[in-house]
Amino acid sequence: MERFDLEDVVAPPTHIADAPLKDWRLKYQAGTIQKNDFIEFFRKQSRKYFHYQYESEQDATRPSLKCTFNDAGAKEHIINVLMEFVLGDNPKIVLDKLQQEGNTATVCGKVFKTGEPTYCCRECGMDPTCVLCVNCFKQSAHRYHKYKMSTSGGGGCCDCGDEEAWKKDHYCEEHLRGKENPANSTIITDAIKERCELAFTAILTFCVNFLEIESNASLECLDGDADDDQEECFCTVLYNDESHTFDQVIQTLTKIAKCRQKDAMEIVSSIDREGRAVVKCDTFSECRQLQEAIEKQAVTTIAGLHTARANQSLRVSVLNIRAVACQQFALQLLTWFQEFLIKHCVFRQIFARIVMDRKAPYSIRHILEYDVKLWKSARTCWHRLLISGMLMEYDNKMQLSQEFSKHYASIVQDFIRDDHEHSCSIVSLSVQLFTVPSIAHYLIANEGIFHKLLHTFYHAAIEPYIKNKTLQFTKNVNVSFKRAAYILYDLRYILMFKPDAWTHELREGFLEGCKGLMKLLNVMQGMESITRQTGQHMDYEPEWECAFNLHIKLACTITLVLEWCANDAVVLNRLYQMVMRYLSANVFIVDRVPKKEEHHVAGHVAECIVYDVSTRPVSIHLPLSRFFAGIYLHLGTYGLTFDNAMVGHTRSPEEIIEPILCTQAMIAQVHAGMWRRNGYSLLHQLYFYRIVRCRAEMLDRDIVGMQIGAALIESNQYLIHILNKFNLIKWIQPDYEKDLTAQAVDDEYLLSMIEEFLELLIVIIGERYVPGVSVVTEEERTKKEIIQLLCIKPYSHSELNRALPDTNNDTSLEDLIDSVAVFKKPQKSDAKGVYELKEELYNDYNMYFYHYTKEEKSKSEETQRLRRKNKDELVCCPPPALPKLTDGFVSIANLLQCDVMMTIITTVLDRAIDLNSKSFAENHLQEVLFLIGYGLQEEQTGNYPFLSFYERSQKYNMLSKLEDLSHSARVEAHRDFLLWTIKKFKELAAKDETAIDEDVNAMPTEGESIELTRPLTAAEQEKQEKEERARLAAERRAKIMAQMQNAQNNFMKSNAEMFASANAQSGAGSSSDMEWQDVANIEDEEGAVAYNSVACLGVDRRLQQPEEESFKCILCFEDCTVSKDGPTLVYSAYVQKSRVLPPLASDHPSSVHTSSCGHVMHVDCWQEYYNNEESKEQRRPHRSRQPFPQTPQNTEFQCPYCRCLSNSVLPLSAPLSKYSMPMVIHKGEELFPIDMWIEVMKTLSDELNMPTPEGNYDRVLPPAEAILRRANLYANVAQFERIAQPIDKTELPTSWTNFVQHYIKSVRQHAPVDFEDSEKGGLLWLWQTCIYTVQSLEVYLRAVGKPFKSEMSIRHKSCLSGLIRASCLYGSNLTCTDVKNLKEPTLELLDTIFKQKSISVLEWNCFSMMVQLICMVPNILFSSTQKVAVPNGSIMDYYAMQLLFLANMAKAIILFEIPTNEMGMDVDEEYENEEVKRLPQNIRNNIAKFYRKYNFEARRQAFAARPKQQQQKTRSQPQPQTAAKSAEEPSTAHECTITQTADNDAPMYDAYIDDDDDEDDIDRMQVSCDTKRIAAIYEHIKKEMRQYLRCCCIFFQFITDVEFPDELSYEASDTYENMCKYLGLETSLETYFDSAGCYASILETFASHRDILYSELALKKKHCGKQLEVVPCTLEVPRLVDLPEDYSDLINSVADFICPNNEREEMKTPSLCLICGKIICGQSFCCQPDLDGRSVGACTYHAYYCSAETGIFLRIRDCQIVFLGRNKGCFVLPPYLDEYGETDQGLRRGNPLRLCRERYNKIQLIWLGHGLHEEIARLNDNTSVIATQWHHM
Ligand SMILES: [Zn+2]
Ligand SMILES: [Zn+2]
Ligand SMILES: [Zn+2]
Ligand SMILES: [Zn+2]
Ligand SMILES: [Zn+2]
Ligand SMILES: [Zn+2]
Ligand SMILES: [Zn+2]
Repeated sequence: MERFDLEDVVAPPTHIADAPLKDWRLKYQAGTIQKNDFIEFFRKQSRKYFHYQYESEQDATRPSLKCTFNDAGAKEHIINVLMEFVLGDNPKIVLDKLQQEGNTATVCGKVFKTGEPTYCCRECGMDPTCVLCVNCFKQSAHRYHKYKMSTSGGGGCCDCGDEEAWKKDHYCEEHLRGKENPANSTIITDAIKERCELAFTAILTFCVNFLEIESNASLECLDGDADDDQEECFCTVLYNDESHTFDQVIQTLTKIAKCRQKDAMEIVSSIDREGRAVVKCDTFSECRQLQEAIEKQAVTTIAGLHTARANQSLRVSVLNIRAVACQQFALQLLTWFQEFLIKHCVFRQIFARIVMDRKAPYSIRHILEYDVKLWKSARTCWHRLLISGMLMEYDNKMQLSQEFSKHYASIVQDFIRDDHEHSCSIVSLSVQLFTVPSIAHYLIANEGIFHKLLHTFYHAAIEPYIKNKTLQFTKNVNVSFKRAAYILYDLRYILMFKPDAWTHELREGFLEGCKGLMKLLNVMQGMESITRQTGQHMDYEPEWECAFNLHIKLACTITLVLEWCANDAVVLNRLYQMVMRYLSANVFIVDRVPKKEEHHVAGHVAECIVYDVSTRPVSIHLPLSRFFAGIYLHLGTYGLTFDNAMVGHTRSPEEIIEPILCTQAMIAQVHAGMWRRNGYSLLHQLYFYRIVRCRAEMLDRDIVGMQIGAALIESNQYLIHILNKFNLIKWIQPDYEKDLTAQAVDDEYLLSMIEEFLELLIVIIGERYVPGVSVVTEEERTKKEIIQLLCIKPYSHSELNRALPDTNNDTSLEDLIDSVAVFKKPQKSDAKGVYELKEELYNDYNMYFYHYTKEEKSKSEETQRLRRKNKDELVCCPPPALPKLTDGFVSIANLLQCDVMMTIITTVLDRAIDLNSKSFAENHLQEVLFLIGYGLQEEQTGNYPFLSFYERSQKYNMLSKLEDLSHSARVEAHRDFLLWTIKKFKELAAKDETAIDEDVNAMPTEGESIELTRPLTAAEQEKQEKEERARLAAERRAKIMAQMQNAQNNFMKSNAEMFASANAQSGAGSSSDMEWQDVANIEDEEGAVAYNSVACLGVDRRLQQPEEESFKCILCFEDCTVSKDGPTLVYSAYVQKSRVLPPLASDHPSSVHTSSCGHVMHVDCWQEYYNNEESKEQRRPHRSRQPFPQTPQNTEFQCPYCRCLSNSVLPLSAPLSKYSMPMVIHKGEELFPIDMWIEVMKTLSDELNMPTPEGNYDRVLPPAEAILRRANLYANVAQFERIAQPIDKTELPTSWTNFVQHYIKSVRQHAPVDFEDSEKGGLLWLWQTCIYTVQSLEVYLRAVGKPFKSEMSIRHKSCLSGLIRASCLYGSNLTCTDVKNLKEPTLELLDTIFKQKSISVLEWNCFSMMVQLICMVPNILFSSTQKVAVPNGSIMDYYAMQLLFLANMAKAIILFEIPTNEMGMDVDEEYENEEVKRLPQNIRNNIAKFYRKYNFEARRQAFAARPKQQQQKTRSQPQPQTAAKSAEEPSTAHECTITQTADNDAPMYDAYIDDDDDEDDIDRMQVSCDTKRIAAIYEHIKKEMRQYLRCCCIFFQFITDVEFPDELSYEASDTYENMCKYLGLETSLETYFDSAGCYASILETFASHRDILYSELALKKKHCGKQLEVVPCTLEVPRLVDLPEDYSDLINSVADFICPNNEREEMKTPSLCLICGKIICGQSFCCQPDLDGRSVGACTYHAYYCSAETGIFLRIRDCQIVFLGRNKGCFVLPPYLDEYGETDQGLRRGNPLRLCRERYNKIQLIWLGHGLHEEIARLNDNTSVIATQWHHM
């Protein structure tokens, strides 16, 4: 280690330092320094850093107050000065050296902020409160264990390094290093320690003094301190409380304090965050007035509410501004101090020593007790200080624990009176202290903490509610009860760990606590008792929740206490005596000397306690009896019994079980329906009684209690007691049926009560999976539970965990699950994986399992019966084998064979046989069979020598009765069960009588010989019935056939001639329908294929006459067809703004997208439906309507058929070919060639450019012939007409055009700019929407990877056909005005494409231009001749498509870049292409030339290779030109027309382009272009043409209705070649680069645009300096942002994300925009920007700009996805799954989560397919959502 130079640290000569440092040092040397020197300094200085200011820019009448405390200034001028005093002139160096020493701490102790991730190891953590911070976790062994993650609520700390928190791997790597070094330092000298002590005392004194809310103390300190020239300034401070809502406070602030709404919101959020805020700075009287006003206001506004707490006024105080400044500084000082203490243990030692000084004002005791007087942020600072200062060293922790315990009662009472959340109170420190086992045990033994906790709780929460020695909660339990309940958590912490060794003190301390517990249980015994209502219903539902809440919170403590005492004989014994004493003294149900009466059954007598459950109070709460049952289970372990354990007990077993028995009887009566008038609260209680959270200390203990009774009371008597309590003594008497008539009237509940009674017996005998009752372990108990659950249905991991009781160790739980079940992985992406029970364990199924509800019972029974049926077993649910009883409980087995039981069983059997019996129900038989089954099986086990069920049953003739019954039709449903029982009987008989009985031989193999005597099993019977039915049906059929044959023969005879000829025709095989159809199909095919071609365009296009499409109107169900003049039909459609793809026009923020569900309606039908819906919406109650009313035209509706969200309709159109002349076949020369067509287009553009001739307003253009004449092509008019195929203009049906206009109106509402819908804007936007929709569908289909020819979904198909056809047709409907209006856009389009004015190909969206060229231009051309050209795949359409194909190709070559590998090396060497090799040399040269001349990269390389001067020359040249020829007048100077070919373009530009043609310079063109590179270019072209070609394929398919060829029906079949073939395009480069053809020159023209020639190559800038906005040839499929594999990475990444508007705290709901990846501070008061004049949440705001109103956000802390629409939204499951394939919304389960790509992909596709709005609507439709304020997200 480096030697440390101590000189650094020693204070330098004092004269260098400034005051006060100098001062302090002098005083220090003189030994006269006092802590007050520092305090004075803090006090005076802090005022300097507190500023306030009123800003009145926004609203002069309501200025905004801005208060700031300059943290940085205070740090520098106050804290740093103090540090220099303590550590010397260079504190930073000292601290760095300390860090390097590396022995600062062995524990981490990092205090968590809200939302920070925490990890707990499920294998090693002592309890779930033991957690690690990210850093420690990542460096510890636990990251390889099974762990859970979660996010902190704030305030806890990392337990790394705490030996008692972990079973192993206590340290992470970092803190292990800390452990190796001694906790000491050579740097911290005694002098430093001394100065530390001084400084620390000063800091503590200062903070303690100034932080109290009550102003008095601090005011005194400030007396006589006023600045001379200024008036004293004061602040009104408003404090947080939990009784007022945000809105109430905001209201107060705006009304009384006259704050602006926005400021008020800020103040409220800062009050919520920090606990207080300054609302006014002014003179004392002004401030005081405001205080009074607020106090008064708050009382009066809320006076209407009658809750106790709402009447409190808001807490306000007036403070001197200097006091506020001191407080602000004190907070900073404490925060800094806490961080400083972490730096070294020596500092902490000093700190601990100081605060342990009991007399000091800053003693621990004081800090603990004055917590309640502070506001939120001040409290947090102190808590953190204590955690960092006292919890990192064990000794300090112990000391703190002792102090904490000593003052526990008063701290808790303060907390109860206070109204801050638990986590804001110092009492929350208990989790840090009480969970340490050794500390907990110490505190129990030496501080009596167990008793203290209970006593405090009893005093605060219980005592006020005791009436007549029992708890009796009122309807509204006050808040203090709820707050006091936190003590019960502490109770649980303290008992969490059983001691390994008991000391005398620990025993005494523990038993003392138990006494308190007994006292509590004693008053709970019988609480909330209820009496059966007979006459009237209950007037009100009695309070019951409170008692259950108490039970739930207390139950685990009871369980823990029982576990503790099981550990030690002495404690057990003494506690047992204690319980018994309390039990004897308690008189609920059992009086001290209970009244008894005798009852006789089957010759046995019992003295039963008289207590009628149906008339007297009973209760579901019997904690004392249950505690007895719990402790009794442990007696056996220490050889104790009921008789020898107790010294002179006063309660008999009968008396002990009496309350439990009464409760059981009451429950049975409720099930039977006797308590109907008692209302729901009773049913709720019974529900809670058996649910998993409560039953451990309720139902389960009750059953154990009953079993204890069975073990201790003589069996016959025991059963008589139960019979008596269930009122069944009469029923069991043999002569009961005889007087039945007399009794029947008042015993309507009898049958149910018998059923309940028998079920209770089954449960008492069979529910033995309890350690102590039988020989089982806790694991086996849990296993049984799991088996029974899985018998109901397969469970997912989370469902199973919820259904099982909490255990501390859930890794062992998982092992248990794995031992009984098999995990089935999910098959589909949205399914969960489930556990299924192992096959062999189905025999353990118990249908009377006591935790089953009635539904679960019947569901599991059904499943089980089905299973057995499928396996060909007897269809019944026989009882499972039972575990062996412990010695103390063997008497339970005797129950089965005692006389009373035998009587019960035979009574039921007899009454089943007696068909006249009225006191019998089928279920009784099933239950009795179950009991018999138990009896027989128990005997078979041989566990109980005394048991001879078989022998005793013979006395009662049981077997023969069973055999009788097996033939009875009355109990047919249970026949298989009877057969099973009989079989069991015979097995046992065989064993008993050594196999002589002949029956035995017959039965076991289910032999056929006894078929006649043996009744049929259910399966056999069913089979038989089926056969019988089949036989009957066959007979019927045969009969009918015979009749028919007969009739036919008669017919044939009379029509003999006709049949003779028919037979001849049909020839050989009899003609079937199928073959006939095939023939027809072939004929169809032949008719349609014109030229055996697959192309839909071009000279060789295939002609296809589409069939008439027919539909059914979904509203009137009439059949209808779409035709030129039939009634108009519409699709329901949804129009939305979209930004999924980049907008079509760069100056528009978004585009418009349309989708449809494809359902067709008559316009009239729809109109009617829509009007109805609209008025329904208006009639809806106001509150359930949308919070923001929609504009009238925008009302959304649902498709009447599929409920799909819609907001518009789209009219259907007939196939476009119906609107044109029949297709003409072009042959050779007759064809009007493409270059002529280009010429026509250019001439058209010239014409359009001319001013409209005066006086001739109707006519914008001369007729088409005239234009051709001007182009010198008049001779070819006929040819031209043949390629254009214009027809005479006919009016389209009005209703059709109306609905197109209706649709355009909807588009207008979602368009990014407003336009005039009736004019050109409407047309243009119709086309734009069509283009955008086609393009986005192309991208979607590309993402899905569906081949073209596969069936396109009806939704896509209808939407496209509606939209494309309407776009094409509507353009043929132009009026003169339209033509005039469209003149300008047409001219612009033509100039751009044909004259190279405006932007270059690089900036074109080729598909979009092609569509406009087809839809708009021909109709303008023919406008003067009253003709129209509807796009239908004519040659002219083909030319347009081909021209833009070429444009796209030129663009691809210009932008080509030599492919490189990851290393950045060129790899075009690897490209080989036979086709390219075969190209003629001249073609290859042409390609190379084109490449060198225009390709950006090649030009850059060539340029770089030039000599320097030339570079300068060429670089400087273009600039003066650009200046001269500005962009406004490009037509004259820069005109580049299409006729100029490559050969004669030389003089056009004088820049370095000319050099290329210069032979001399050719060697300078270094850029090579061999076949390999051409091959690479060719590959590139093919790839880059993809989007254009795909869009064209989709587009022209709907225009021409030509089917896709089979080549396009496979995956990835959308190759360049296949698509070109369909579109009638040549693929070979030879066609396009042959200088003899016209294509090469067209390419050249496109490429020689000035923007391309003169652009700044590297930066892609135009020569005018503007950025070239290159539109890529093929857009990559847009994707949502990449998410990390591991969810915890995501959480960690936002752990300390600070909200942009609020630097003090982390974001509460960081939300990741999945579209752009930005993190937004969602749903928080700090971020509420204005949008359209109202405040919205940050996510809504972001979505508006990022993605056109729809948004997808991942709320990282909640692990939840939100889809946001316009004022709407929904939550969606996140794409993160745990290893069981389940999501974890809200991170409640905490299993490690991994990204599920399939799920993410699904979300991706919803977005890409524009399905967000629909998804939101769908999810909101299904669920009755509480109105979420989505716009506040
Ligand atoms: Zn840590
Ligand atoms: Zn650590
Ligand atoms: Zn671990
Ligand atoms: Zn209709
Ligand atoms: Zn629909
Ligand atoms: Zn975004
Ligand atoms: Zn924020």
